[in-house]
Amino acid sequence: MEQGLLVVVSGPAGSGKGTVLKELKDSGDFVFSVSATTRAPRPGELDGVNYHFISHEEFEQRIVLGDMLEYTQYCGNYYGTPKKEAEEVLASGKNLLLEIEVEGAASIKAIYPEAVLVMLLPPTYAEQEERLRGRGTETEEKILARLEQAKAEVQRIAEYDYVVYNHSGRSHDAALDLMAIVRAEKCSVTRKSDILEKFFS
Ligand code: 5GP
Repeated sequence: MEQGLLVVVSGPAGSGKGTVLKELKDSGDFVFSVSATTRAPRPGELDGVNYHFISHEEFEQRIVLGDMLEYTQYCGNYYGTPKKEAEEVLASGKNLLLEIEVEGAASIKAIYPEAVLVMLLPPTYAEQEERLRGRGTETEEKILARLEQAKAEVQRIAEYDYVVYNHSGRSHDAALDLMAIVRAEKCSVTRKSDILEKFFS
C-alpha cells in the first residue's frame, strides 16, 4: 500500500491560509485533521468540523491521558492534534494535513521526521500588516499582538522544508504550489524503499 504523506501547513496571521487550504480541502486529496481547542467558536464555526471545542479541564485531562499527538498554548488557549484520529488516517495510507502553528510543527517533525513542513506567507511583512489592518475587525492592541506573534513565527522558517507565498488575489497559485510540493514529495526516491523490488518483480 502506498504510504500517505503527512503535510504540516503553518500560516502566520495575515497569510490567507483559510482560502488556500479550502481549495486543498475541496480537492479531496487530503484528510484534514480536526484539532481540539479551548478557544470559543467563532460565528459559523461548527464543533467537530472546524475544531473539537472542549473545556480547559477536558483538554488538560486529555494531555495527561496521552491523547494529544502534539499541543501548544496560543494566545491564551490550548490547541492540539488528537492522536488517535491522526494515527488512523496515516495507517490507512491517506494524506493527512495538519494546519498548526510553529511549535506544533516542530513537535510533529520530531515524531515524524518524514513529515513535510510548509509555511505559507504573505509576500512581505508590510503586506501582512496591511492585510491584518484591512480586516478592520480588531483593536490596535490585538493587531499588534498578532503581528508580533507572526514575526516570531516567520523567524522559524529554517525549520520548514518549503515556503509558499500567497500573493494578493492569487490564492489559487498558492494552492497549486502546495499540491505540486505534495506530488513531488510522493515521487521522492527516499520515500520509497521498494522501487527495485517492484521493478524486477
Ligand atoms: P485560530 O484560533 O486562528 O483558529 O488558530 C490559532 C493558531 O493555532 C493558528 O496558527 C493555527 O494554525 C493553530 N492551530 C490550530 N490547531 C492547532 C493544533 O492542533 N496544534 C497546534 N500546535 N496549533 C494549532
